[in-house]
Amino acid sequence: MHLLLRASSTTFSFHRPKIFASLMSYSTHRARLRGVVFDMDGTLTVPVIDFPAMYRAVLGEQEYLRIRAENPSGIDILQYIERWAPDRQQKAFAAIAEHERRGLELLQIMPGAAELCTFLDSKMIRRGLITRNVKTAVDLFHQRFGIVFSPALSREFRPYKPDPAPLLHICSSWNIQPNEVMMVGDSLKDDVACGKRAGAFTCLLDQSGRYEDPQFDGEDLKPDFKVSSLSDIFHLLEAHFDLIP
Ligand SMILES: [Mg+2]
Repeated sequence: MHLLLRASSTTFSFHRPKIFASLMSYSTHRARLRGVVFDMDGTLTVPVIDFPAMYRAVLGEQEYLRIRAENPSGIDILQYIERWAPDRQQKAFAAIAEHERRGLELLQIMPGAAELCTFLDSKMIRRGLITRNVKTAVDLFHQRFGIVFSPALSREFRPYKPDPAPLLHICSSWNIQPNEVMMVGDSLKDDVACGKRAGAFTCLLDQSGRYEDPQFDGEDLKPDFKVSSLSDIFHLLEAHFDLIP
């Protein structure tokens, strides 16, 4: 597990006064954590959507290659589509829906997800979900795996990630501060960006080590923590936070 707890990071300088002002025992130096918000695709579920194939279908080969070259950390397909004319948009959403439907057929829960949820429930730590996928996919996830997240915001909630709005909405509905929440996801540009902008702790799930690539060295956006599996999050939470609902 890689811990990127950086005292110099923006998020940590935000928390620092609270952490360093305390003169009590070591355990009180730890930040309080009251809720965890998860991304769905690639975080709570095993990646089954073939995103490159989806982007090719929506953008066409040439446009896909051009946009991919300009956006090495990932393509925000919804953002491109929003600028298009209605008829082109409709075709694009149909292609996306078809890829998402195929993904749903193969949907599997991420190893460690059920155990992590059981652990959070035992500590009475709230669990929320934010996805750029559609509500029917979230409903299917809840039904198929019997683990319900609340609130669970899908892309019908605007603006979606990386805007901090959905995370701020969840914090407000829980009546807790964003700096008492952790956003966990497999996307730097969506999940970590959303969490940082909201003022939450962030944890990047990087199963394949793709964020180890030197192209991310100059990236300003850094998560507070990076893990290669959801199972690493137990240790991370217990080592760095006071889990007090
Ligand atoms: Mg994801």
